[in-house]
Amino acid sequence: MNTFVLGNEVAIRLGFFFGIFFIMALWEGIAPRRPLSQSKKTRWFVNIGITILNTAILRLVFSAGAVGTALIAQSRGWSIFHLVDVPFGLEVVLSVLLLDLVIYLQHASFHFFPLLWRLHLMHHTDLDLDVTSGARFHPLEMLLSMVIKFGAVFILGTPALSVLIFEVVLNATSMFNHANVVIPKPIDRLLRLLIVTPDMHRVHHSVIIREHHSNFGFNLSWWDRILGTYRAQPKEGHLGMTLGLANYRRQDELGIFGILSVPFGKRAAGR
Ligand SMILES: [Zn+2]
Ligand SMILES: [Zn+2]
Repeated sequence: MNTFVLGNEVAIRLGFFFGIFFIMALWEGIAPRRPLSQSKKTRWFVNIGITILNTAILRLVFSAGAVGTALIAQSRGWSIFHLVDVPFGLEVVLSVLLLDLVIYLQHASFHFFPLLWRLHLMHHTDLDLDVTSGARFHPLEMLLSMVIKFGAVFILGTPALSVLIFEVVLNATSMFNHANVVIPKPIDRLLRLLIVTPDMHRVHHSVIIREHHSNFGFNLSWWDRILGTYRAQPKEGHLGMTLGLANYRRQDELGIFGILSVPFGKRAAGR
């Protein structure tokens, strides 16, 4: 299975990406959680434009990608999983869990270190949230995240299969937890015991500072609960809350070039 999965990496990635995107976009059309405050066409143009730009830059800079890094690390026999004898199945599960913890810690760091916040705040300038917000990240943040992921994969020696599983799952959950969809409260409560739901991540996009510095998880909701950064609901409620950042409210400043220049502007110094 390992060889089959890795041999069809691109098809698997694209299949999941378009499949989940289509399902979430349809769900948003049928049962939206909040009315959108901005033109969907303009926001989608910006968010999808950024997604295409990021994909091209990452391909250009890192031809091998994280799965390639895992294959290289595996063939050289470096890293922790080569030193301890763990069954392959357990190694895959542990790797996915540990990579998720790394992403949680990385996200929290992007909020707490001012220089990193300059890069990450672009993600928070979206004035609405929907399936396309899940890929709205500054290219410099994407490059830095990739380097951190390479580091984690090298040190842990995660099997290439788990890196691919993790990346596909992260991509899918990011689209899911940014989606503007209704999930009945009892189901949300149940799902939240394991994963980050759209209601949980929406708190993270609140204009209120203490709310956007909480709920850093992307896949598992456990890290926020264990490390004390969990916030169950927004103070103003999901319909009353304001999304985005207080200093970035004008949509005419939030075009593709506008948001790409956000890290270098004076306003990015504020929290
Ligand atoms: Zn954030
Ligand atoms: Zn987000």
